[in-house]
Amino acid sequence: MNTMGDVWKEVLSLCSKKVSEPIYKMWIAPLELTKFENNTFIFLIGSEFKKSIIMDQFSSVIKESFQEVMGFPVEIDILVSDAAKENGGVQEPAVKEEAKEDIKEGTAHYSFGNFIVGKSNNFAYNVSLGVADHPGTLYNPLLIYGRSGLGKTHLMCAIYNRLKEKYPDKLIIYTTGENFTNELVRGLKNQNTFAFHEKYRNVDALLVDDIQFIQRGESVQEEFFHTFNALEQAGKQIVLTSDVPPREMEVLNERLRTRFEMGILADIQPPDIDTRKAIILRKCEQLDIRLPENIVELIAQKIKNNVRQIEGTVNKISAMMTAYSNNITLEEVQRVIKDVTTDYQPIGVVVDKIIEFIAKAFGVTDNDIRSNKRHANVVLARQVTMYVINEVTNLTLQEIGSYFNQTHTTVLYGINQAKKKMDSGPQVKAVAVSAINEFQNVTN
Ligand code: ADP
Ligand code: MG
Repeated sequence: MNTMGDVWKEVLSLCSKKVSEPIYKMWIAPLELTKFENNTFIFLIGSEFKKSIIMDQFSSVIKESFQEVMGFPVEIDILVSDAAKENGGVQEPAVKEEAKEDIKEGTAHYSFGNFIVGKSNNFAYNVSLGVADHPGTLYNPLLIYGRSGLGKTHLMCAIYNRLKEKYPDKLIIYTTGENFTNELVRGLKNQNTFAFHEKYRNVDALLVDDIQFIQRGESVQEEFFHTFNALEQAGKQIVLTSDVPPREMEVLNERLRTRFEMGILADIQPPDIDTRKAIILRKCEQLDIRLPENIVELIAQKIKNNVRQIEGTVNKISAMMTAYSNNITLEEVQRVIKDVTTDYQPIGVVVDKIIEFIAKAFGVTDNDIRSNKRHANVVLARQVTMYVINEVTNLTLQEIGSYFNQTHTTVLYGINQAKKKMDSGPQVKAVAVSAINEFQNVTN
């Protein structure tokens, strides 16, 4: 969004010079740019009426300005948005709600069926299943805790999905400690916690992921405490997860801590080697790839404490296998493991790695991509590289350009070309998608 936002800023500034100020403020400034695809910039606006006026009266000014900024003609289109409608077209979409939806969408596939059970998570798995089958009675409240990447969110979403399926009419809320806190703080700020109470005290089951983020602020904790009590007294199921046991949650007030500890505590430990292998094999099955036994063994030996990293490794290997037509060496696997297990990588390193990845897939050198050679294959590799960098980092077009000695206009053109080539060439697309899979999580 950063990069598109930059273009839009320039376009807005040009438009403001071409039409009168009231026209600009009323019709052009409220447009919310959402995406660029098929050479078309797509906007959101709050009503059909506004859309038709803008398309009839101002689309040519807008298109003209885009062309000036980017150096080639583009189309524009406007979608009428519900979110924009509710607050009269003001550009403040419901970011927090959106985040919550994201969580649900991304985790819809988490189920009990695709959770590998071993000694380390056996108890947590079984009580979770108990909660999903007998909500509010057997194990209430349930607190699942364990270090990051060991399957807490997976189990919680499995509970959510199963409850939803069994009780489609019940109100089941999955949220995070962070969301919960944000919503409450917003309510407190506006001196209106009514909506908040209505929402949380009327649920049939409340699932709060990562409660360690509910720590700050006495009023938030008090509110959580009361919600917690009200639900429990009404026999509603509560499930919580945390990355530390309650006694180690430093900022927690005593009342809440005691409250948390009164429920069923189920910890998840790092998986043993057999469980790790089973997880790797299941993941391969999902990705439809086959890994030689020595590679499975190597991953299982090296990554002991984090299933997310195991999955990340298998994802990357799968991406590389697609890009390099299944040829992958043990050394490469070793490097992937190293990358995945060292958390943070400076952005320059990520860019270098993307260049290296694409160069290898296209059979050119890293330097070819950085140069301004015009050989068709090199140009294509460079454009795909720009596209991938734009997808997986927050760099602006200008910043991306700086790695190639190019202007932001050229970068935008390159990205656009890459998209076209991807649409018409499945191999190009496969390389880009593999690269995105491999690098998308390394920069955050
Ligand atoms: P946490 O919430 O504890 O940080 P997650 O539930 O997000 O961890 O798990 C990280 C990733 O590992 C998820 O993609 C999840 O599906 C996977 N995972 C964790 N444990 C298992 C398991 N026992 N079987 C299968 N996948 C697992
Ligand atoms: Mg989690």
